[in-house]
Amino acid sequence: MRIETALIHAGAPRPRIEGAVSFPIFQSSTFELAGDGGYHDVRYIRLNNTPNHQLLHRKLAAIEGGEAALVACSGMAAISSALLSILQAGDHLLAHRTLYGGTHDFITKDLPRMGIDHTFVDADDPASWAQAMRSATRAFYVETMTNPLLEVVDLPGVTAFCRDHRLVSLIDNTCATPVNYRPIEHGFDLVVHSATKYLNGHSDIVAGAVVGRAGLVQAAKHKLDHLGGSLDPHACFLLDRGMKTLALRVRHQNDSALRIAQFLEAHPAVARVYYPGLDSHPRRDRAREWFRGCGGLLAFEPKDGQRAAEDFLKRAVLPVNAPSLGGVETLMTRPATSSHAGLPPEHRRKLGISDALVRVAIGLEATEDLVEDFGAALA
Ligand code: PLP
Repeated sequence: MRIETALIHAGAPRPRIEGAVSFPIFQSSTFELAGDGGYHDVRYIRLNNTPNHQLLHRKLAAIEGGEAALVACSGMAAISSALLSILQAGDHLLAHRTLYGGTHDFITKDLPRMGIDHTFVDADDPASWAQAMRSATRAFYVETMTNPLLEVVDLPGVTAFCRDHRLVSLIDNTCATPVNYRPIEHGFDLVVHSATKYLNGHSDIVAGAVVGRAGLVQAAKHKLDHLGGSLDPHACFLLDRGMKTLALRVRHQNDSALRIAQFLEAHPAVARVYYPGLDSHPRRDRAREWFRGCGGLLAFEPKDGQRAAEDFLKRAVLPVNAPSLGGVETLMTRPATSSHAGLPPEHRRKLGISDALVRVAIGLEATEDLVEDFGAALA
């Protein structure tokens, strides 16, 4: 099955339950044990194994091309369970230096309290990785496209390095989605998602996913079961419904974001645009070779700095000034006051995140309406 078909049909039971075309919601916390089944036969929402979870597990595995998958109650539940299932006290993690803020905080504030150390590296500079390696290094964590600067790091280099050094390679594929990039086909061991974003696509639930080799997913499931991060069956239903249109949505967002990025780049009030699909992006060739599209996220800096960025946020009418991304509606933020507000200004500057940077997550509105709105706000 191609991804468009898998998004609709993968994992659906045959015959259908009572003939229902849409998979029903099993809103039951516990299920009757058949015969004298043991603990392993227990079905219970916290154990992430009710029919609504299992449908999603089959579908997520199919669309990412993994052996197994696990759904979780948030992206952070998926990411923390995956990392905790691989790392234990005394272990060391390599990670790219710019990560989603919650992941960055988990690595820097929570893992050390459990005796798990880390080194942030530039995942685009393979020569520096061997120096950062220790005998206790177990895993390497990256994102397909970084947020908010849309860097595209050396992903094949990371998987090759992990193979050579027997590390587990983990990738957060939230921003690319399997429509644009399928990390497992490129050698990654474990893929994590904030399914809150593109997978669900409607800004109405929080969810997460882990996909990859069966043993690794099983270990993450045990951790998640203990931490209690299961997704409610009704949210499972909404996630499955949202995923059915993922390919259509992402293709529109790929196309619209590219056209809006080109419009912004040509605008006299804009100093710089960050979008991997632009010819001016330093990794444009890579993005073209590896990705089927460059996604719906872009960022830009107005020429007149922070005040102009604040004005843009006030004057643009269609985008909602709200964190998050991947929904049907266009959202915008200034990372210095939202996703990266927790970092000291000096650290933000070192990462290249200026106070004037505006991040936009393009939705499904008509591209022309967004262009007109952005043009009026900039004028
Ligand atoms: N990964 C990325 C790239 C994100 O943007 C986010 C949230 O913004 C997360 C992970 C965390 O996901 P959640 O908010 O669903 O826990």
